[in-house]
Amino acid sequence: MENFEDSIREVAEKLLRDKKVDLIIGYEQGTLPLRTTPCFVEKLEDVKKLVWNASCDANLSKYVVGKKEKVGVVAKGCDARLIAVCAVENQIPRENVVVIGVPCQGVIDRKKIEAKLEGKEVLEAVVKDEQIKVEGEGFEVVLPKKDFLCDSCHTCRHRNPPIYDVLIGEKLPQSTDKNEFAEVSSLESKSTEERWEHFKEELSTCIRCYACRNVCPLCYCKMCFVDQSMPTWFGKTNDLSDTMIYHIVRAFHVAGRCVDCGACTRACPMAINLRELVKKTEKIMKERYNYEAGLGLEEVPPLGEFKMEDSQEFIK
Ligand code: SF4
Ligand code: SF4
Ligand code: SF4
Repeated sequence: MENFEDSIREVAEKLLRDKKVDLIIGYEQGTLPLRTTPCFVEKLEDVKKLVWNASCDANLSKYVVGKKEKVGVVAKGCDARLIAVCAVENQIPRENVVVIGVPCQGVIDRKKIEAKLEGKEVLEAVVKDEQIKVEGEGFEVVLPKKDFLCDSCHTCRHRNPPIYDVLIGEKLPQSTDKNEFAEVSSLESKSTEERWEHFKEELSTCIRCYACRNVCPLCYCKMCFVDQSMPTWFGKTNDLSDTMIYHIVRAFHVAGRCVDCGACTRACPMAINLRELVKKTEKIMKERYNYEAGLGLEEVPPLGEFKMEDSQEFIK
């Protein structure tokens, strides 16, 4: 990881020095333990701020959408996939972006650590090899990193960026034996009524803060339907029916485009399991169209195009 950090800084410095880019988007250390924040580097002297570690969880592709200048961006597997999706959708001019690809070993889910510590505040944390050492007022614990990774990382099959201009380090072996849809099976075993009840219960605590929308690189509409008032598509309240409409429409909007980066679930202050619904749509896209989002720059997402011979069983 330390070598990756040095390599990222070297690449960033060279790109800025050679004027190949105007801006580097990477990560810098946050002010709290186990946190990083997006870092925007325009000057050579700021390159040293860039870090790389298991807390680099923000999906930086979000910050590339709509940028006019030439940008270099640090990209894990899922970030690179979203850059590819947004490039295919003409939201990122690929020629303006230098993708600094980083093979990814997974990122830590702080909520899992908080749950394990039952609310005790972490004042210091060190991630070394496969362990996380956390310390606070009167306690010190060593945790196995693998048990505290994000759920998306547990089943991720694209840890190597599928598109990149510069690769940091060596590619990781491709993992093939992961049951990435295990979580969906329990949902599928339920009847339609049970699923509805399940989602009603899961979403009942949603406060409509829209953090899940704001963090997602795929939510780039200049005016989101939830913010429109002419016409008003649905209420602004957190009544369950309004909340359900928001989540159903969001799930349809990201269907066939979502790469399971996990950013929306991590951003939710109410710990709502948003992954289940988007993972189900991902599974449908795979089964019906043999399609996985963001693996290249050629293929248009199945729901982004229309052919006369397409099955239309929904029109009856
Ligand atoms: S989903 Fe994959 S690429 Fe993204 S952070 Fe997790 S392991 Fe890395
Ligand atoms: S819907 Fe969530 S998991 Fe999917 S791409 Fe957007 S932020 Fe990532
Ligand atoms: S982040 Fe969580 S609470 Fe906020 S709108 Fe999304 S699901 Fe609701």
